[in-house]
Formats: sequence, structure tokens, C-alpha cells
Amino acid sequence: MIDVLIVGGGAAGLRAAVAVAESDPAAKVAVVSKVYPMRSHTVSAEGGAAGVIGLDDSHDEHCYDTISGGDWLPDQDAVEVFVREAPRELMRLEHWGCPWSREPDGRVAVRPFGGMRKMRTWYAADKTGFHLLHTLFQTTLKYRELVRYDEWYVTKLVVDDGRVHGVVAMEIRTGRVETIPARTVILATGGCGRVFPFTTNAAIKTGDGMALAYRAGAPLKDMEFVQYHPTGLPFTGILITEAARAEGGWLINKDGYRYLQDYDLGKPTLTPTLRSMELGPRDRLSQAFVHEQRAGRTVDTPYGPVVYLDLRHLGERKIDARIPFVRELCRSYQNLDPATDLIPVRPVVHYMMGGVHTDLDGATPVAGLYAAGETACVSINGANRLGSNSLPECLVFGRRAGEAAAGFARAHRGPESPAVRSQGADEERRLARARAGERAGPGAGERIADLRERMQHTLEGAAGIYRSGAALAEAADTLAELRERADDALVEDTSSAFNTELIALQELHAMLDVARTIAACALNRRESRGAHQRTDHVARDDRGYLAHSLVHRAPDGSPSVTLLPVTITRWPPGERVYGRD
Ligand SMILES: Cc1cc2nc3c(=O)[nH]c(=O)nc-3n(C[C@H](O)[C@H](O)[C@H](O)COP(=O)(O)OP(=O)(O)OC[C@H]3O[C@@H](n4cnc5c(N)ncnc54)[C@H](O)[C@@H]3O)c2cc1C
Repeated sequence: MIDVLIVGGGAAGLRAAVAVAESDPAAKVAVVSKVYPMRSHTVSAEGGAAGVIGLDDSHDEHCYDTISGGDWLPDQDAVEVFVREAPRELMRLEHWGCPWSREPDGRVAVRPFGGMRKMRTWYAADKTGFHLLHTLFQTTLKYRELVRYDEWYVTKLVVDDGRVHGVVAMEIRTGRVETIPARTVILATGGCGRVFPFTTNAAIKTGDGMALAYRAGAPLKDMEFVQYHPTGLPFTGILITEAARAEGGWLINKDGYRYLQDYDLGKPTLTPTLRSMELGPRDRLSQAFVHEQRAGRTVDTPYGPVVYLDLRHLGERKIDARIPFVRELCRSYQNLDPATDLIPVRPVVHYMMGGVHTDLDGATPVAGLYAAGETACVSINGANRLGSNSLPECLVFGRRAGEAAAGFARAHRGPESPAVRSQGADEERRLARARAGERAGPGAGERIADLRERMQHTLEGAAGIYRSGAALAEAADTLAELRERADDALVEDTSSAFNTELIALQELHAMLDVARTIAACALNRRESRGAHQRTDHVARDDRGYLAHSLVHRAPDGSPSVTLLPVTITRWPPGERVYGRD
């Protein structure tokens, strides 16, 4: 039997796989991924990975930036573990072959990043995710006990008596459904940006792992915190990395004015210095855009209002050396050259701060079930993630989850549970019915794409950069209704091979489950904090809501939200700060 089955071949999943293999060479480990591992979203990360390295920097400062940037919602014990272990992980990647960019004297280069007061973001030009994932992937190849299920889609966790016993998965190429027994399962399935209509996230980021855990009885945490990145290309949503601003790029409105100097981006630099203002936290920058739009200072385009990112003053040579991919993306997808032209940009859904509730070792309340990476919420990101903290989070907590799961598997040897076969057979029948296009009920025959679009626009309308109670309550009702209708959506493709329509239906179900938790948590949090801004509750309320939202799936399928106190160790809640002076 497989000891540790990892769902996901991105940074978190592959790091976990190496950790299992290193900590217990006899352990059987499997990585199941719906795409070939190198196609995981991690590959598209551009800007870099944070870890204290400079002599002028300290662990305490990285902790403080992360906690304050997260508006005091991160668990401080988790942040301390993260900050302590991140440099070690990044150095380890170096030893495994990751080509970090260098200073002329050979030291690892670091760049500034949003909300970080010291330069601590390691990078490999502006293709950090590609190099990082490649390094991890190559490293996994040396472990013979590691079995890969490439292009297999996990549809269900087998859970019996409060413990996970494996997964049910479908081979996309053939449509074959297999029940895979396992002593432990690690979910490393990434985020769910696709629940919104305009996102930097790859099409595969549909929150599958969050939905699998939620249905299996594990709660999700802080789902209301959705990060908008301030600089996406207007039509495609392709990200223009924060590194472009870190290298000196400016954000200007339609009058050519660097408007951020008029906004409170955090203390103590209330009036931010011209040097640092473009590197304010992402939530504040995205909110500033909305104000500029309301004041009529954005530029209308067929793809919505935009401001401009100005890199022209950096010069061709610096652009080519430090952010060549930005130039490549602008040329290919926007038909412009940032060395000579302004880049139109607008805020775009980028990252989920919330996810599956775990402890510091990635363990969920369901025995044997772990989660790591973007799909998990440990939590270090709180109400707003700082750019470049996510890649090292995948490494630090992917490793911890891998080691913990290997330990659990060693301690729980026992025979296969009878639940594995019976639940597997049930799931196989459910998928066969869906493929055959059998359906009945109120939504018979509705198209997956129509339901998906409705969901995305409902969520964007109510749970975007600004939210209100009334809109969220209405959205919660609409999403509940859509979830019901999605059960009977139309699957026209009855073939077995590459039935992507059948997969799209499973993804739609997952997205709707996740979307409902986002609306429910946002409705329940009657305050404004970080990325969650309520127009009807505009202030942060530490007395009522210095707490995580924990959302369980009630027996009728609806989300049920409670609060869980934040862990404070050394940094009492204060005002947010940011920026380098
Ligand atoms: C464009 C972009 C740029 C970014 N830049 C940065 C940056 O510079 N620095 C930074 O720190 N962060 C950055 N981020 C965020 C960061 O890249 C991600 O949060 C991180 O890579 C997520 O890694 P992961 O391992 O959790 O998941 P992913 O890399 O998303 O991998 C998820 C895996 O799960 C698998 N999977 C999902 N569902 C199923 C299923 N049902 N069955 C089987 N397999 C499944 C997928 O196949 C995939 O292998 C960026 C994000 C984006 C979108």
C-alpha cells in the first residue's frame, strides 16, 4: 500500500515528495497530478522567493513584515517557523541546482518586494517559478520508490471513521477510474483563482483540493481573503510581476501622475516616499486603483478601466537583464515594448490567503490528511500575503507535511479499510453516470460554461475588492442555487478518452463549493481587514474579529462559519507598516 499519496506536482507537492523519500527511504510515495508536474501553476511564478540572507536583515524583521502585511491575522507561531526555515530551504534548492541570480561578486542576489522593508527576495531572473519547479522535479527523479500518476484527476478522498484511507482518481487519457489506497494523503493542489472571471491563475486552479478536504469533513480557513494583484494585463489577466516595480517601475494614472503618493499605504511612511510607494502591500494598491477609477482618473479600454505601469525610464538594458520575461509577455500578449511604451494594467485576482485548516505540520483535523502550499492555510498570510512569501511557504510547509505524513504512515501500518473498495465503487458509478449524460432535475441540460460564468460574475460582483453585507447575502443565495443546478449540468461528451468536459464538471462542482465558503466567510466578517474591505463595516475590529474564519460543510451542504482565535506570540496588534525608507 502507498504510505504517502501526494495530490499535486507543484512546489508544495514535489517538496513534500522529496521530504518523504529523504526521511524514510523505504516509504512508498506517489504523486498524482492532473497535469504533468512541470505544468503546475508554480512554473509561472516570476518575481522571487523571500528568505532572510542579508547582514542588515533579521528573522524578526521578516516576521514583523509578514504579520503586519497580513493585518495581524497570521498565526505568529507559524510565521516564526516559516521565517526561520525559509532561508535553509532556498539554500537547499541552490545545492540541488537552482540557478539563483547572482551579484557580480558571486553572492546570491536579492531584490526588494512589496511590503518587505529589507531586500530579501531571491530570484532567478523573472522566471523563478520555472527554475524552482525544475530543480524540484529533477530532484524527485532520483527516488525509485516514487510513483507518478501524471494526468490523473483525483475526484474523491476515501474517509472512514475520521481517517483518510486513500483517493479515487481518473486517468484522463483513458477515463479509467481507480481507487488508490494510501495510509496518508497530502493535498498540494494549489489555489482557486478561477472562481473569479479575471485572474492570473492558470485554468487548472479550480480549488479541487479545498473542495475534497471540505467534503471529507476538514474545515477551510480564512476563505474571505482573496488577493488582487495590482498589475495584470487587461485582456488576458497575465501577471506583470511586482519585480517590475521593485526594479523601479511607476504606476501612473491617465494624467501621468504617480497617484499612490495620495494614498495611505500604511505607517509610518503615511506619505510614502517616492522611492517606495509602488511597493506598498497589494491590497492597498488595488484599493487605490478603485478610488482612482471612481475619481475618473483611469483610462477606459474595451477590457475595463486601466492605469499604466511605466518602465521606460529603466532603459532597455536593465529591463533585459532583470525582467526579460516582462518584456517578452508585453510583446507577445499586448503588442507593445515596455522599453518605449506604457503598459496598461488593472487589478486581477491572484492568490487565496485561505485554504484547508492545518497545524504547523500540515495536519488537518481528519487523521492522516495533510495539506501544504496555496491550498492550505497554516496560516502565515493572514488577511494579505506579501509577494514572494508563497514559494518559500510551499517549500517550508511542503517539507514539514511530507515528514509528518511519513511518520504517521509508519505509526499506522494496519490492513486496508473495507471502506476503500465500497466508496471507490460508489464513486466509479457516479462518474459513469455523469459521463453517460444521465440527468434529471431543475437544471437538466444547462451548460457547464454558463453556470461557471454566472458563478464567476456573482462572486466578482459581491466579493471583489470592496464588499457589502447585502450583496454578499444575495450572492450566497445565488451560489447555493447554482451549486444545486450544477449537479445536473450537461455533459455531451460520452467518450472515455480525454473527456475534458467531464473533468470540467468536477472542477465546476469544486469551484462552487469553494465559492460558497468565500461568500459565507465574507458575510460573517463584519469588519475591514487587509484584502477584505466591507463598505458597511469600514474599520478593523480587533475585539470581534482578531480571529480566523473556520468554515465546515453542514450536513445539508451549506457552509457553516465559526471563529478561531489568532495565535499571538511576540507582536501585539498594531497599525500596518510597509516600505523601505
Ligand atoms: C502568475 C503567478 C505568479 C506568481 N509569482 C509568485 C512569485 O514570484 N513569488 C511567490 O512567492 N509566489 C508567486 N505566485 C504564487 C505561487 O506561485 C503559488 O502560490 C504557488 O506556486 C502554489 O504552489 P502549489 O504547489 O501550492 O500549487 P500549484 O503549483 O498550483 O500546483 C497544484 C498541483 O495540484 C495538481 N492538482 C490540482 N487539483 C488536482 C486534482 N483534482 N487531481 C490531481 N491533481 C490535482 C495540479 O496538477 C498541480 O500539479 C505566483 C502565482 C501566479 C499565478
